[in-house]
Formats: sequence, C-alpha cells, structure tokens
Amino acid sequence: MKAAVVHAFGAPLVIEDRPDPEPGPGQVRVRVEASGLCHTDIHAAHGDWPVRPNPPFVPGHEGVGLVEKLGEGVTHLSVGQRVAVPWLGRACGRCEHCLSGWETLCEQQVNTGYGCDGGYAEKMLAWADFAQPVPDGVSPFEAAPLTCAGVTTYKALKVAGVRPAQLVAISGIGGLGHLALQYAKIAGAQVAAIDVTDEKLELAAELGADLLIDARKDDVGKVLKAHGGAHAAIALAVNPAAFEAVNSGLRRGGKLVMVALPAHGTIQVPIFDTVLNGTSVIGSIVGTRQDLAEVFQLHAAGRTKVEYETRPLASVNDSIDEVLRGQVKARIVFDLGTGR
Ligand code: NAD
Ligand code: ZN
Ligand code: ZN
Repeated sequence: MKAAVVHAFGAPLVIEDRPDPEPGPGQVRVRVEASGLCHTDIHAAHGDWPVRPNPPFVPGHEGVGLVEKLGEGVTHLSVGQRVAVPWLGRACGRCEHCLSGWETLCEQQVNTGYGCDGGYAEKMLAWADFAQPVPDGVSPFEAAPLTCAGVTTYKALKVAGVRPAQLVAISGIGGLGHLALQYAKIAGAQVAAIDVTDEKLELAAELGADLLIDARKDDVGKVLKAHGGAHAAIALAVNPAAFEAVNSGLRRGGKLVMVALPAHGTIQVPIFDTVLNGTSVIGSIVGTRQDLAEVFQLHAAGRTKVEYETRPLASVNDSIDEVLRGQVKARIVFDLGTGR
C-alpha cells in the first residue's frame, strides 16, 4: 500500500510502498477512501510543537474508509463498514478525564498521525473503540473534514457555551473556521467572520456570516466592540497576533477559546482588562467520540455544508504549500479510493 511519510521535520513527504499493516487485538484495518489535510498535519511534519512525533511517521487524522480486516476481539464493527479515524486514536478509559466525559484530556491518549501512523495512506490501523461509524448517506469526502475540523469547532462552541442571540467571532475561516461559522449559526448566534483574504471572506458571506472583518485593514477589536463586543471568540488563525486581536474585542464576561496552535505561540493577556471585564481564556482540544457522533448526525440531517477540494495523495507536498499560502478555499481532501 502507498503512504506519504515524514522522514525529517520540514523535509518534503515521501510517497512509499509499505506492507499492509496488520491489526492487533482491538484494532481494525481500514481501506482509506478519503483523508483530509488539517493544518495540524503541517505542524506535525514541521515539528512545530514542544511535543514532537517520531519520524518516520504517516500524518493524517481525518482518514475515512471501509473496515477491511478485524483484529482479535473486535465484535461491534464489521468488514465493509465505513468509519472515520480521528486525532483521538485511543484513550485509557480508566482515568479521571476518561471517566468524566473528557477523554480528550487523557494523559495516556495516542494521537492518530502523530503518536501512531495516520490517514495519508491507502490503508491504516484504528482502535475499534475509537473508530467512528459514518452514517449512511454521508460521503467519505464530507466525513473527512468533519472528523477533525468539524468535531474540534463543534466542541469549541460547546466550551464557549454559546447561546442564541450572542455575538460570536470566528477568527480564521479556513478548514476549521468554515465549519465553526456554521455551528455558531446552528447555535443561534450572530457571527462575525474574520480573515485576511477576499476568498475566505466571500466564503464566510456565502455561509451566512452576519459581519465580515478583514484583518488586513480593519481593527478587529474596535469593530467587534462597535457591535457591543463578542460573547465568545474562537481563535482558529495560525497567528498569535490574531488571538490578541479577538481577545481585545470581547465584551464583559466574554470568552476567548484558543484552538489554533501556531509554533512557539504565546500571547499577551492584559491582567487589568481581564480582571475588570471578567473575561476568560480557555483552551479547547478536538472533541470526544460523542461530539463526533453529533457532528455526523447534524451533517446527515443536512444542517452543515463541507467545502472541500480533492487531490491525489501524490500531490501532498504541493497541497501543503497551497494551505500555507492561503490558496485553499477551505479543506483539501486526498482521494485514495479511485487509484489516482
Ligand atoms: P487553515 O490554514 O485551513 O485556516 C487558517 C485560516 O486562518 C485561513 O483561512 C487563513 O487565511 C486565516 N488567517 C491567517 N491569518 C489570519 C489573521 N491574522 N486573522 C484572521 N485569519 C487569519 O487551518 P485549519 O486546518 O483550519 O487549522 C487552524 C489551526 O487549528 C491550526 O493551527 C491547527 O493545528 C489547529 N487545530 C487545532 C485543533 C485543536 O483541537 N485545538 C484541532 C485541529 C486544528
Ligand atoms: Zn486536525
Ligand atoms: Zn484516560
């Protein structure tokens, strides 16, 4: 089977032929049909974060495909069933976090495409308990971006506790942001969409944004304050200055939800304003299996639209460059199903 492999941080990925992986106990082998390119995969391939993966590794945590082989003890999935393999490859199931509905905080977790090989491949392994069945009628190309971009932003809005009639700022209308905007609308909020390219702002308008803010020329904080300030700001732009900009546009009691993970990212949080205004800064990491099930349910019910463009896996390095240059409308999804 073919896989795109990171051999050294910052070096181009190499397409290689590898033997089919054999599922161990509790695992399944998935014949990947579609695999989304999340900006996190670029951070992984560049070794951007304090905790780094160990090359060689196969990135990808938006892999969707058909179960091809069951490992020992797997009884609840069947061969031919479509599943998604998210970032949360497995968690321990026994710790405080796992037992309290916060499996995403489990210290024993293994992350797909980071701590184990991921979805940039024709075949991959998944722990059966964490492989999410994809509902009938949801295409693998739409399921792929929902598997990380969808679940992560759905969770971020839950964490922000967004209620109808609130003003929510979405900073960065990329893979994550175009779905964040839709979940904020579903929650009943007014949405301010912030980005730095005309195409992304046009996409935000198409998706129903109530207010468009062009961070190239507008003062984000001032525009948001002129509308009363944001009850919540979801920081999805890979740029610390963008976090500070939306933080300055919160209304009293507002919440900044940090989601993007720029390399060496730190921001200045003014103590006086934070205390006097009673604002919060919260981190949010992906979502649980239940969150992903809800994301798929919403999509199957026709409530969300996934904006994607397909590429062959062989174009992986060009695709990464396109994302870094901001040229992708929302999400690239590698097409592994047609032999291209
Ligand atoms: P993306 O590249 O598709 O989107 C980023 C968007 O930010 C682009 O539309 C870009 O034009 C816009 N942008 C750039 N500079 C900006 C600025 N100054 N102001 C406003 N917008 C600006 O990336 P993505 O796949 O959506 O991922 C975004 C980030 O989220 C990455 O850092 C990724 O690692 C992280 N991420 C975090 C989690 C989590 O669980 N916390 C999950 C997935 C991804
Ligand atoms: Zn991701
Ligand atoms: Zn745990």
